[in-house]
Amino acid sequence: MFTALTAGILLGFMLIVYFSANQNRKSEFYEILQKEALTKVNLLLETRLEANTLQTIYRKNKEVLYEVEVAIYNENQDLLYHDAVDIDFVKETPEMLAEISEKQMIRFVQDKWQVIGQLIEVDGNPYYVTAAAFDAYGYRNLENLRNTMLVSFLFGLAIIYLIGRYFSKKTMSPVRGMISEAQKISASNLDLRLHVSEKNDELGVLARTFNEMLERLEKSFEAQKQFVSYISHELRTPLSVIIAELELSQNKKRTKEEYREAIKLTLADARKLAKLSSTLLDFAKASYDRSEINFKSVRVDELLIDASQELMASNPEFRVDLDFEGDFEEEEITIFANGYLLTIAFRNIIENACKYSPDQACKSSISSGKHQVRITFKDGGVGIEEEELKEIFNPFFRGKNQNVSGGSGIGLALVKRILNLHNAAISVESKPGIGSTFLISIPRL
Ligand code: ADP
Repeated sequence: MFTALTAGILLGFMLIVYFSANQNRKSEFYEILQKEALTKVNLLLETRLEANTLQTIYRKNKEVLYEVEVAIYNENQDLLYHDAVDIDFVKETPEMLAEISEKQMIRFVQDKWQVIGQLIEVDGNPYYVTAAAFDAYGYRNLENLRNTMLVSFLFGLAIIYLIGRYFSKKTMSPVRGMISEAQKISASNLDLRLHVSEKNDELGVLARTFNEMLERLEKSFEAQKQFVSYISHELRTPLSVIIAELELSQNKKRTKEEYREAIKLTLADARKLAKLSSTLLDFAKASYDRSEINFKSVRVDELLIDASQELMASNPEFRVDLDFEGDFEEEEITIFANGYLLTIAFRNIIENACKYSPDQACKSSISSGKHQVRITFKDGGVGIEEEELKEIFNPFFRGKNQNVSGGSGIGLALVKRILNLHNAAISVESKPGIGSTFLISIPRL
């Protein structure tokens, strides 16, 4: 396309040059004819040169110099002089002479010969003079110009085509590279990245953007894979316990009491499974993109009350002490949140506090700052080892104190995810044997 476009433009220029050169040639040659006609009139009528001499000069020069053929008529249209009547090229008709008389000067082309006719006055007498010649030099020059232009046009086009190909290849080569690199990337090797050039041009930005997209995809793929393997691992343990218990009780005849005991154990494990699966479901929900989750204005104290009531309904032995009721203006403790998810987060922290404390009690309080609402959960339980503090938010991590109470290790990971979705922060202070305090700060509305 580039070559065709350049060819079109070049061709246009060439045509303009050619036609304007032809036009110049033509008008210059008319001027020469005019001068030649005047010279001959002067030689004949003023210098009184013999007509024979002039005719001889004409015949001699004709072949070599493409002499101008001149004819002179008097006022009465009688032929006074002709360079060579026998090879008369332009036939001066009475109409032509009348036209010269009327217009003073006429110009025309006859079979490539240029002809002028003009009225010249000598000593007060008008004479009709015609002059005709073939501009052989001019045509030859024009032909040379045309040939030179054609050759350089074809030559130039070939060069433009080759240069165009070279540059298009050169500019497209990074794209080709990106295509072949991108073709190698699939779900099994999402860690591959496109090569990013140093330059900050569009291709560099495209490669970087593509790599960032891969980064996000890889992370979410990884998270999904991990999640699935966690789930299967966690579900397998209670399921194999249930199977083992049932097989054991099936092996030989048992007493009613023993069956009842086996059922009780299996039921407990089945309940654990049900709880685990619903927690995993919450975990999956909390892993969604923030834009997928409904947010609205909610009061933190109401969410805390909901969480503690839900928890105490299933664990009547837990004691939750909320010491904030009525202390705040509504706007001080209103946040923009998903109430369902945040209640789950609060419930998990309260549950842990009760679970890991001999008195099964949790004390929760709210304080409101300029930009944030802070919620603390304090227990006087077994506490967490210093080196475990960094890990307790990892999925399926359980501390050394896990023998104090049962669990799956995803409670705090779930809390962390939910808080991330709310741009909230969580920190822990804990001393083994003394107790733990969890502090959450959530941006105020
Ligand atoms: P789990 O189901 O084991 O309770 P979590 O994710 O809720 O899982 O907690 C991770 C670990 O953090 C627990 O196993 C426990 O060791 C520790 N932990 C969490 N909260 C407390 C707390 N209030 N007191 C003592 N240890 C805690």
